[in-house]
This record gives sequence, C-alpha cells and structure tokens, in this order.
Amino acid sequence: MRYISTRDKSVKLSAAGAISMGMARDGGLFVPETIPELPTDAIEKMTGMSYPRRAAYIMSMFLDDFSPDEIREYTEKAYGDNFDNVMSAPVKSLDDRTHFLELWHGPTSAFKDMALQILPYLLTASMKKTGERRRVCILVATSGDTGKAALEGFKDVPGTRILVFFPKNGVSDIQELQMTTQQGDNVGVMQVRGNFDDAQTGVKKLFSDEQLRAELDGRGWFLSSANSINWGRLLPQVVYYISTYVELVKDGKISNGDKINFCVPTGNFGDILAGFYAMRMGLPVNKLICASNSNDVLTEFFETGVYNRLRPFHTTVSPSMDILISSNLERLLFEMSGADDRLTASYMKLLNEEGSYKINDELKSAINAVFACGRCSEEETRAAIAGTWKDSGYLIDTHTAVAYHVLREYRRKSGDGTPSVVVSTASPYKFCKAVLESIGRDSEGGGLDLLDRLSEATAVAPPKNLSGLRSAQRRFEGVCEKEGMAEELRAFLK
Ligand SMILES: *Cc1c(COP(=O)(O)O)cnc(C)c1O
Repeated sequence: MRYISTRDKSVKLSAAGAISMGMARDGGLFVPETIPELPTDAIEKMTGMSYPRRAAYIMSMFLDDFSPDEIREYTEKAYGDNFDNVMSAPVKSLDDRTHFLELWHGPTSAFKDMALQILPYLLTASMKKTGERRRVCILVATSGDTGKAALEGFKDVPGTRILVFFPKNGVSDIQELQMTTQQGDNVGVMQVRGNFDDAQTGVKKLFSDEQLRAELDGRGWFLSSANSINWGRLLPQVVYYISTYVELVKDGKISNGDKINFCVPTGNFGDILAGFYAMRMGLPVNKLICASNSNDVLTEFFETGVYNRLRPFHTTVSPSMDILISSNLERLLFEMSGADDRLTASYMKLLNEEGSYKINDELKSAINAVFACGRCSEEETRAAIAGTWKDSGYLIDTHTAVAYHVLREYRRKSGDGTPSVVVSTASPYKFCKAVLESIGRDSEGGGLDLLDRLSEATAVAPPKNLSGLRSAQRRFEGVCEKEGMAEELRAFLK
C-alpha cells in the first residue's frame, strides 16, 4: 500500500517511508492511497483476541511492508505490563447506552500512550527498511500530554534523540513535573515563552528550514515528528475505536452491526480522525461528535464551514485541547473532498497566509453527514465532573468532561438515542486542581499535594507513575524564546 501527500497525490511512499519522513516535503500529511476494508467476520474474529492481537490484526492491513510477525512483536511490547489494565483500552459503562473508553492506563496516564508506546518501534523499523543510516531526532511541540508520552516512548531508544518544547505556564503542575523529571540519556525538554501554537509553529519552522536540515544532515541527523501529523502515530489510534466496538459486542451491550456514536474531546483532530478512518474501514459508526472547549475553532468550522485561526486564545482547564490550528483536519478535507489534493493545498495556503478559509458547500455537507459537534465552557466542564462524580461515583478528567457535556447536549438537541462512547483521554489525576475544585474540595496549593487530596476525597488510588513523581529529580529547567528554538536544537544535537 502506498501513502500519498494530501497536497500532492503524485508523491507516493511506502508505509515505512511515510513513517520515517513524518510529513511530506510539500507541507502535506501522508494518507493511505486506499483504505482497507474490515473483513465481514473481523469483529467476531477479534472477540477472542487480546488488545495487542487486535492491534496487530488491524495495523497489518495498513502496513504491508511489515511482516505480521514484526507487527505482532511491536504490539506485544507496546501494550503489555507498561499498562495497568490488561485490556490497555478498557470500556466502562455508565448506563445502557453511555460508555467510556478509558485510554489512560498507560505509563503517562493520557491517551497519547496508546500511540507513543508503539511509534518508536514503527519508526526505528521504518528507518531500517528505508535504508536510513542517519540518526533521528524527534521534535515535539506539546500542550502537555504528547511531550511526556513521547519522552517515555523514545527514552533510550538506540539511534534516536528526542527534544520536547512546551509552553511555559501552559501545562498543569503534574505535566510539568512529568516532563522536567524525565529519565533517559537521549532526551531534552525546553519551555518556550508563548502558547502551544507558538511552540507548534516553531517546530514546524524547524522542519521546513532547509539550511538547518542540510546542516544536521552533514552531521548525520535528520528530524522527525511524534506529533499526530505522523501516520505512525495515527494508525495505532484506529485500533481502539474498533476494539471498543468488539468489547461492546462481546459484553452484549450492542449487536454486531449496530451503529454507535463516538464523542471525542478534540484538539489537533488526531484522535477523532482515527475514528473516521475506522468508520471508513467499515466500522458501524453513526456520528463522530467533535467536542471543543472554549477554543471552539473546530465547532465553528463544522457549523459554518469557515476555519478561522485568527481568534482569541483561551487558556482552559483542558489544556490539551487549547489549540487554534488543528493540523489533522487537513487529512479530513482531503478524504472528504474525494482526494482533491489541489483543493486541500489551496485551503492550507489560505490558512497559512490569510488565517482562514471557507470550504465549499459540497464538502461541508459531506462532512456534516458524518460529524456532529459541540462546545463546552469552563463552568460546564466543572459541572460535568461534579455531576458524574455525584450521580455515578465515576471520576473523569477535564477533557473527558468536555466530551461528556457535549454528548449530553447533542442528545438533548438531536434526540439521537444511538449508544454512544465518550472517549476518555486522561486520568483525572493528571488534572487534580481542576477536578478537586469541580467536586467542591479544597484545591489550594499545587503539585503532588493535590494528588493526595484528590485520592483522599474520592478513595481512588492515583496511578503509580504519578505518585512516583514525589521522589523524582528535576533535570530540565531551560526556557527559551520562540525565535530561539533552532539554537536550542543545534545545541541539543552538538
Ligand atoms: C491530546 C489530547 C486531546 C486531544 O486529542 P487530539 O488528537 O489532539 O485531538 C484530548 N485530551 C487529552 C487528555 C489529550 O492529551
């Protein structure tokens, strides 16, 4: 199977090529030329499989330049003891038609682990397959969760280094502590003065800087990405949508063939896009519901067809969704426009140069047939956490709360009674302050004290990887300006 650029279909690479490059030279993102179809017996077949087996089964369909044994080896390593739940992505039911897909049982307690525990295997194997002799430096811009998950995934992986940039004061205390205490000999962490988009734009500039590329090449390095623009990051996420369906069938919550909805707290549009690919493969999905916090650029896009990044940026209690440029939307525009690379490229050019674009009516109707959307304010986020805790004794984090609120509003307005899955993207313990505040507990102070307080208040034990931060040493204190990121990278690769 070949992978093509969303901005130029004539650019064609193998899966290994697309994964080791990360992003196409023309600025486009790699997508599979054709989307494999789930065999009719797939759901039944997967019922008896472990999560790693399901992952291997699904991922093999997209990675035909990898042998099934290779892929199985990676999935077994990636979804093993490093997760605190044998299912890796368990499904909890709140009632008959409301389910939570818990994607935060990995080593950093956020859903990014689902992809970033396996990406290093895919990437290093892809480099071997493409005959890459240089070493790779992974560059990450993070609003909190990706950075830590990428650091954990790549730490001490031979032939790699990883440098993470995060916005100073733009992540939670716990997230900051997780990153600045990271272990490993090949890792670097740097705070950037600015917001997430400044950091992400800065990283994109590093990727497109030809002079820097040549200089690093001369020193035996090339740059790649662990952001969700990499296909190797997106593909593992397709798995849990399908696995959830298998679980619901297995538990008798739905019958095989029934449609379900997914409601996804969305930032960079990677997670929900993986749901879209699962649907394209033939998974019975009714609606994909895109949930926004106060940075509701995507919800506005679905409502009006206009994507406008020129808007105030809000710092919210769900920081992993504080994003104005949702990079993966580009893949959706391409797929929904019938693989129209020129149209996609023209919208991206407008976004870059003018700050906004408006899609044509045909494309908008196609998108609206699949996607619903909704927004959630800060107050509504807190109310959703409080309500779910009070009514069901189920504790959810701020991002999951955004999605749950949006799902309830969607149901109320549309009357759609389809069984629905809320994609739960982080442990509530990653966002202790906001969660304590929401359930009416004392949230004064910071850092790890709040972890204890939340645990006392709810009688739920915090994940071990978070309580272990108490004894961790801070290793990275650096702060840079967004204009100084290239210098930091040069110094890191000295
Ligand atoms: C990254 C993240 C999101 C947003 O996912 P996207 O793929 O960027 O849309 C939502 N919730 C949490 C906790 C995250 O870490």
